[in-house]
Amino acid sequence: MDVLIVIDMLNDFIHGALKTDEALKTVGPASRVVEIFHNKNLPVIYACDSHNKYDFEMKLWGEHAMKNSWGSKIIDELKLNPGDFIIEKHFYSAFHDTNLDAILNYLNAGRLFLIGLDADICVRHTTADAFYLGYETIIIKDAVAARIDKNWEDYYKRVYGSKIITLNDLEESIKN
Ligand SMILES: [Zn+2]
Repeated sequence: MDVLIVIDMLNDFIHGALKTDEALKTVGPASRVVEIFHNKNLPVIYACDSHNKYDFEMKLWGEHAMKNSWGSKIIDELKLNPGDFIIEKHFYSAFHDTNLDAILNYLNAGRLFLIGLDADICVRHTTADAFYLGYETIIIKDAVAARIDKNWEDYYKRVYGSKIITLNDLEESIKN
């Protein structure tokens, strides 16, 4: 079964402390991707920064997506369904110190579709961990944005064997 993982589509990444123009452009496509997975009745997992002031990242990025703050809330533009999974994370990877692996195991997940922010930071570290666990990863490029490494696509293909697709290709790519 295909599973969607939505990474850090949070107020601070799109409208607040860490916002970028590129991130804003992902909102429309990301909403559509979520809708497509919902329509096909496939699992949607939101992996969300939920920091406290002791997290290692604070030194590098300053305060962002602090637990219980507006900045750590999923943006209103994404429509959550009852039963969607929400994972709080403290590190770049959605697997690090979370129960994501356990959720994927009991869902009997097949391929992982990834969207969100940033293509070269949290999405990339999540993809790396997914690769170590043997998952095939598919990135929907309209629904991710990169912050530092704008040439992220080649890296994903060569290092993780990821497939990079567009939103237009999505519906025919998904398997129930
Ligand atoms: Zn963070």
